[in-house]
This record gives sequence, structure tokens and C-alpha cells, in this order.
Amino acid sequence: MNITEKLYPGDVVLMRKPHPCGSLEWEVTRVGADVGMVCLGCKRRVLLTRRDFTRQARRFVRRAPEASATENSNNI
Ligand SMILES: [Zn+2]
Repeated sequence: MNITEKLYPGDVVLMRKPHPCGSLEWEVTRVGADVGMVCLGCKRRVLLTRRDFTRQARRFVRRAPEASATENSNNI
């Protein structure tokens, strides 16, 4: 995971370890000092520190609309 990537609510990430429900995908719900996420398998919410998040996240599954909008404006 590129830890310099900016996170946005709505980003969906693939984690290294599956949740007990079997899902690997989490949607980012809150971005701050901590990262709030909801499991897409069982809808359980968790809060991770940035450090734990960057350790456990493997890659983006889908980016939030805000993320691609920012990328586009950077390319101009
Ligand atoms: Zn789950």
C-alpha cells in the first residue's frame, strides 16, 4: 500500500487479513487522525490508527469520487 496516498471517505480497501465474517473489503467512512471503516461483509464499524491502517491495508479496490477528481486536477 502506498502510504502517501490520500484517503477519502468512500474509498474501498482490501486488507491483508480477513475479518471473522470472511470479508477482506472495507469502506473508509471517516478520515482524520484515525481511520473509520465499515466491513463490507458484516457492516461492522471499526476505528484504526493511521499506522495500523497503512500496515493492514493492501490496496485500493475502488476510489472515492473525490480521489479521482483530485487526481484529474493534478494532471492538468
Ligand atoms: Zn466483517
